[in-house]
Amino acid sequence: MWADFTALCDLGGRLAGSPSETAALARARERLADVPGGLVHDYAVDYPGWRCHAARLIGPDGGALACTPLLGTASTAGTSAPVLDLDRGRPEDFERHARDIAGRIVMVRHEYPFAAGHVHRRVKLGLAQRMGAAGFLIAHSEPGIGPVSGSSGRDGGGGIPALGISAEAAAALRAPADGALPTAQIVIAADDVAAQTHMLVLDLPGREPDWIVVSAHLDGHPLGESAIDNGTGVAVAVALARSLAPRLADCPRGLRICVTSAEEWGLVGSRLWLDRMDESARRRMVLNVNLDSVGGASELTALTSGLTRLDAWVKDTAARANLPLATHLPLMPNSDHANFAAHGIPALRLIAGFNAPDSNLRFLLTAADTRDKVSANELAHALHITTKLTWQALTEPEHTMRSLAARAPD
Ligand SMILES: [Zn+2]
Repeated sequence: MWADFTALCDLGGRLAGSPSETAALARARERLADVPGGLVHDYAVDYPGWRCHAARLIGPDGGALACTPLLGTASTAGTSAPVLDLDRGRPEDFERHARDIAGRIVMVRHEYPFAAGHVHRRVKLGLAQRMGAAGFLIAHSEPGIGPVSGSSGRDGGGGIPALGISAEAAAALRAPADGALPTAQIVIAADDVAAQTHMLVLDLPGREPDWIVVSAHLDGHPLGESAIDNGTGVAVAVALARSLAPRLADCPRGLRICVTSAEEWGLVGSRLWLDRMDESARRRMVLNVNLDSVGGASELTALTSGLTRLDAWVKDTAARANLPLATHLPLMPNSDHANFAAHGIPALRLIAGFNAPDSNLRFLLTAADTRDKVSANELAHALHITTKLTWQALTEPEHTMRSLAARAPD
């Protein structure tokens, strides 16, 4: 498992559409094909892609500031405007400055994404766009690690130029005490392109046609190694397949491992794959356990998509097996499990560092998401918990599994 993890890290950040992603898909395909008793399917998925040739942010003194384009952002030959600092960029911050936003470049802060009450980057970008901002900057709060990346969610539609920036760049753009806003210039040269990625599916059949689906996205960001997010999830998913493969023939249902891609592009890869699948094939998938960022902190949490029965089942399973596993019930549409849930498939995401903003998960989406932020013990722990949950789901009575989609309490 550790060798699979470091091999993915060796291939770089695995941005969808890059040679790094292609190499990682090839490696994952080989590793899945090595699992005895399984059949690997490779589904090509066309999606609205994007290629960036140049992105620059010029500060008030004419010098370049550290930045990275948000994935899929709108282009601009040169947008110069005063920079309005909206602090964290909560909806109330936008409301308070509603009359100042039009025509300005709005600057907000990236929040620790894995906590109750966090406001997602795309919500902030959407507010800036609707209120007429000329551009959007989102800054990481920690100095020394460079700009923060992320998706713009534009998908080839309309939008405004949007950059992730460093804490140092945000400091350089802060208004001086006399109140005059500093002016910055954004330059982004990029093209919308027709792109194709692949969903890799390993089927290890059980006695009956239903599947427990364990998914993990392989793609990442150009900065760093996308080690925590999501080298950890892919390595654990492949290790799970290897360890359970010899035991599946006697299970009532089979194990399906999905290695997805283009997740970092607003979850588009698995969404299109699921949307284009026959309803009868979707109905055969009775649970999705999505592994996304399962190392970098010692505690794991199951995000249970607003499904009360599923939440109770996870708590029950964890208590009986004496697993240290917390749950968080509200739907957090921050990874591929949300696409399964949207089709009525009970879905959860396992994640490390939930409500632990000081953990290494704070380095996600930056150049500091590298293998040294993950320990072998954390991966082993994630595999242990994933194995217990998955095994329980593989062997439960059918009526229990079919009841997990319920939202209403008992
Ligand atoms: Zn992720």
